[in-house]
Amino acid sequence: CGIVGYAGTAPAQGSTSSATHGALEVLVEGLRRLEYRGYDSAGVALVTANGIEMRKKSGKLARLLDELDANPLPASVTGIGHTRWATHGGPTDANAHPHVVAGGKLAVIHNGIIENYAPLKAELVAHGHSFRSQTDTEVAATLLGEVYQDLEAAGTVEGSLLSTAMQMVAQRLEGAFTLVATHANEPGVVVAARRNSPLVVGLGDGENFLGSDVSGFIDYTRRAVELGQDQVVTITADNVTITDFHGVPAEGREYLVDWDA
Ligand code: GLU
Repeated sequence: CGIVGYAGTAPAQGSTSSATHGALEVLVEGLRRLEYRGYDSAGVALVTANGIEMRKKSGKLARLLDELDANPLPASVTGIGHTRWATHGGPTDANAHPHVVAGGKLAVIHNGIIENYAPLKAELVAHGHSFRSQTDTEVAATLLGEVYQDLEAAGTVEGSLLSTAMQMVAQRLEGAFTLVATHANEPGVVVAARRNSPLVVGLGDGENFLGSDVSGFIDYTRRAVELGQDQVVTITADNVTITDFHGVPAEGREYLVDWDA
């Protein structure tokens, strides 16, 4: 239902001058702004020094915040956040996003519906994967993890494996989706794909944002880039790269958000 992504800059050793925001602060503010969409669960995943750390809860954002108080997350400048409106699987903690797969290395959130999730799930089960939720999202996440591992083994891709894996997976998905992922092997990178579902990039100074709409980052920047249909975007603290689902460079439409929030 609601999506936020963030890539910022870590404080330099012994100085805080070049630091941007903490990822958790940005994600929680973004999710608060996106509450108007309605939702039944909320969750966040951060890329930390210890790999991916995730917290999620069914119910209101307040329940996630209670969970974060009880089980605090370490500092991080990269992460993703989600509010869910259940379509596949009831509103339980297990079905909430993010879905963390690939041995805890890959975190994925998703808006929309993957229409061909059933045949994909059967294929992945045949490959030996098991599932912890009833969601279509975990199927896309698991496929992304499998493709990532294959690319890693092949060793032929230059640049972000996550970005290439996302393009390959997006080609195989049918339906409406905004899919966003982070991988422990690529700290500082957040990748998203969209088809028939909105996705906007927020451009900052030493930090970049993703949102299902501009409310996801309006507290931090008004410079936005709207993605086109069937595009993949890769953000880091100081870079935004857009391609189509085949890796061909593409451009989004940049604009200034003119809105008294
Ligand atoms: N289909 C996904 C689910 O049920 C995503 C729903 C949403 O857009 O929040 O988990």
